[in-house]
Amino acid sequence: MDKVDTVIIGAGIIGLAAAERLSRSEGDILLVEKEPDFGRHCSSRNSEVIHSGIYYQPGSLKAGLCVEGNRALYSFLKEHGIKHKRCGKLVVAADEEEVPALHALKEKGERNGVEELLLLRGSEAAGMVPSLKAHAALFVPSTGIFDSHAVMRELERSARENGVLFAYDTEVTAVHPLPGGYRLSFNDEFEMESVRIINCAGLWSDRICEMAGMDVDTAGYRLHWNKGDYFKTARYRNFERLIYPLPDPKGIHLGIHTVSNLQGEVSFGPNSYYVSELDYKTDDSQRLSFVTAVRRYLDIDEGDVWPDMCGIRPKLQGPGDPERDFVIREESERGFPGFINLVGIESPGLTCCLSIANLLVHL
Ligand SMILES: Cc1cc2nc3c(=O)[nH]c(=O)nc-3n(C[C@H](O)[C@H](O)[C@H](O)COP(=O)(O)OP(=O)(O)OC[C@H]3O[C@@H](n4cnc5c(N)ncnc54)[C@H](O)[C@@H]3O)c2cc1C
Repeated sequence: MDKVDTVIIGAGIIGLAAAERLSRSEGDILLVEKEPDFGRHCSSRNSEVIHSGIYYQPGSLKAGLCVEGNRALYSFLKEHGIKHKRCGKLVVAADEEEVPALHALKEKGERNGVEELLLLRGSEAAGMVPSLKAHAALFVPSTGIFDSHAVMRELERSARENGVLFAYDTEVTAVHPLPGGYRLSFNDEFEMESVRIINCAGLWSDRICEMAGMDVDTAGYRLHWNKGDYFKTARYRNFERLIYPLPDPKGIHLGIHTVSNLQGEVSFGPNSYYVSELDYKTDDSQRLSFVTAVRRYLDIDEGDVWPDMCGIRPKLQGPGDPERDFVIREESERGFPGFINLVGIESPGLTCCLSIANLLVHL
């Protein structure tokens, strides 16, 4: 076969969800992934939090897709018996000065359609997590944690069953527009034609645009890589709720929060800094800044934490730039019919995987 209806580039959680959803109604679909297996980048280097939708600008794709994606993901997890916990989270105001920001966050969440948000006094919040230090807190019950690898495995299995072809170890190296479609070249010198391309290439999605001949800077699609490290602790276990500080006011990150896995282990992260290379090493140099950040809401000593893992965010927001929304767009207006871009799919991308896939059906 040298021609298909749709090529999806990238087997992260977004490409897999797109493949599974589109395979219910579309023709031949080929999913290509440069790594030997799915989920080797952003989709397996994150906090595995099901976000509620409180943080994002009302009316943005992030806000709408997060609220819809949160509900869709819980249903999917229940339907497929995948481990998860709707534990809720506490966003903490460490002192009186931070209380207005907590109120503003609640208001924004309510405008986005997030339900059951509750402002608590510090003592009430400490009733939920006894070791917590808080002046006040916002309780967000719809936040949770889940096994994202199991979700990816299920999406891949179901897409395969519906006839999607998977090509791992296959890197897209060139994209040429043709009348009525595109020709894609791969690292093994094989070529393929496709009517449609769905660009789910995560950290490299701007490069895929460039391969096709799009002017990435004019379009505003240039990605900035932003790294986030995690530090682990053995001092705490089995927190009933996730604990977050107030988010960065410029929207770059959510602040160093607790990360609980489904086994009850606790880590802290992610921090945030821009990088120019793909380097998944985490070292000890960030220890003091982690401890300082965590001490705002928990007692912790330097000896209680050690470097764990990290992830890299594909951000459209560069240093000093205003907050940016996801780009999810069919590019006919730029002269690329049938080319669907997903660029800047940073957090809450995991939460939005199913709602993004639904949006792709409409596009
Ligand atoms: C530190 C961190 C914490 C996060 N925490 C959360 C969270 O708690 N909750 C949440 O909802 N979201 C979170 N996110 C965001 C979430 O992880 C991402 O939005 C999501 O994983 C993006 O998935 P993706 O499929 O777009 O990208 P990826 O998983 O990166 O997949 C893209 C794939 O494309 C492939 N690819 C690239 N170029 C090519 C090519 N030329 N040819 C073939 N294949 C190619 C790559 O190899 C890769 O496998 C976090 C992200 C980070 C970095």
